[in-house]
Amino acid sequence: LRQGLDKTRRNIVNQLKAIVGQGPLNQAAVLEIEALLLQADVGVEATDYVINALQERIKQEALPPEVAIAYLKEILRDMLDQPLKVHKATFAPEKDTLNIWLMTGVNGAGKTTTIGKIAHIAQKSGYKCLIAAADTFRAAAVEQVKIWGSRSGVDVIANPGQNTDPAAVVFDAITAAQSRNIELLLVDTAGRLQNKKNLMDELSKIRRIVDKKAPNAKIESLLVLDATLGQNGLRQAEVFAQAAQLSGVVLTKLDGTAKGGVALAVVRQLNLPIRFIGAGEGIEDLRPFSSYEFVEALLS
Ligand code: GDP
Repeated sequence: LRQGLDKTRRNIVNQLKAIVGQGPLNQAAVLEIEALLLQADVGVEATDYVINALQERIKQEALPPEVAIAYLKEILRDMLDQPLKVHKATFAPEKDTLNIWLMTGVNGAGKTTTIGKIAHIAQKSGYKCLIAAADTFRAAAVEQVKIWGSRSGVDVIANPGQNTDPAAVVFDAITAAQSRNIELLLVDTAGRLQNKKNLMDELSKIRRIVDKKAPNAKIESLLVLDATLGQNGLRQAEVFAQAAQLSGVVLTKLDGTAKGGVALAVVRQLNLPIRFIGAGEGIEDLRPFSSYEFVEALLS
């Protein structure tokens, strides 16, 4: 993770150390921290939260450099953990139960890759997995998901031909999952943002099928978001938050950006927990998210 966040860390850490190293943290230093956070794409809202917390604290006492950094880390961790007050704290499929994870996100965000990685991890951890290729609009997406499936020995349910109804694929996949006692069904959904209404209709139709056909399943709806998009990604995220009943985010391509601060913006603005982060193209390059690990990798 430290390596994955290298670009963002280099963008922040040295400057931060220089700012707080000037002596007890004062108002001028806090303003410099503010500029630094905005530059790392932490976003206005999340930055305001951090800066307000810092300002409250320096009103009470002067903060020597090490204390200032430790306190900053604490604020960031608290912020990243806020959504866990409404969403469950630990994130793993329940054993001996059908868990259905609906994966959404625009084309190119890394959805297919993420599904492949999750299937791999889950299979390795002893879960019985299945993938539904419900991004039926792109023939290439179905092919790609099949390649990922075969890498980790996970079956893929897909309908032959293009433009088949995604909801029908999901229906078939749930039938198969129920008869095979599958524990984790990963559903790849379409990611065309051009037509917001179609996207919303398609995602809500899939959700209706899932709720109806698998009323006892544990359902998660995860948005796959490309970290390299920074604040633009956040705007996409807002569209998906309206279209799907999201319960979490997977942040991909953290290895390719100095703007990893967007993680904080996402959490603050959508009040959704980050569940996984992707930091590479390989099958092993996905990690469960931990606020502690993330903040340490960012600021140490
Ligand atoms: P989809 O259209 O959302 O299904 O996106 P894909 O899964 O096809 O991924 C698009 C591109 O991003 C591919 O070239 C992936 O290898 C790459 N990619 C996905 N996740 C990551 C990541 O965490 N880091 C990097 N560097 N590349 C990634």
